[in-house]
Amino acid sequence: MNLQLCYADAYARDVEARVVGLDRAEAPLVILDRTVFYPGGGGQPPDRGTLLRAADGRTWTVTSARKSGGEIVHELEAGVEPPQIGDRLRVDLDWARRHALMRTHTALHALCGVVWRDYGALVTGGNMEPGAGRMDFEFERMSGDLVDAIEAHVNDELSAARDVRVAVLPRDEAFAIPDLIRTKVNLLPEGIAEIRTIEIVGLDLQADGGTHVANTSEVGRIRVTGYESKGRINKRIRIAVEDAAVGS
Ligand SMILES: [Zn+2]
Repeated sequence: MNLQLCYADAYARDVEARVVGLDRAEAPLVILDRTVFYPGGGGQPPDRGTLLRAADGRTWTVTSARKSGGEIVHELEAGVEPPQIGDRLRVDLDWARRHALMRTHTALHALCGVVWRDYGALVTGGNMEPGAGRMDFEFERMSGDLVDAIEAHVNDELSAARDVRVAVLPRDEAFAIPDLIRTKVNLLPEGIAEIRTIEIVGLDLQADGGTHVANTSEVGRIRVTGYESKGRINKRIRIAVEDAAVGS
């Protein structure tokens, strides 16, 4: 299997790699021996970026990535001639976009952590784009006043500069942690041997496959941009991620 750097080091934004597999589809798919791309999942969209062949300076735009048979595959633009097996390439993420996704993903975990801690509400779903996201909760009594309080409490937690830690635990050990699997439906596939966890130290601990910033201070702050009912019990909160104001 190819070396998948994003899980251990979310800040790895480029790497030298070799082409080990190709699928000459309309939009060609490239498999590399190592990559910094995140393939998408858990509400976080896949990365975009470029491949550069140093030998002749040719570049390719990577429009998306995904997991296929355990490998992370890179999708190129439709109709382009792909690189060849054995080619040495420099792999570069669209880092501005990825970093915005890392901030957004960590902000959503902080939101989950506060809503769980203060109201005991479970998450039923979520999604994000760079700089904005939404989470759905089983949260019957949510109201505008509560949402204002939630926004303030999340921003308190972000500005507390809490470390964000990644760990990989054996399945049994992970499932022994109370409240680890915070989503209403357990989304983890059967038979998975290890569970990756993301901890916002002192606030939140979740099973998660995504990429995160290393400290909540790097998120900045959130603004709640909307909330809506998706039924009597299910409520949706939308947030935007912003830079923390200087001096506040
Ligand atoms: Zn997550």
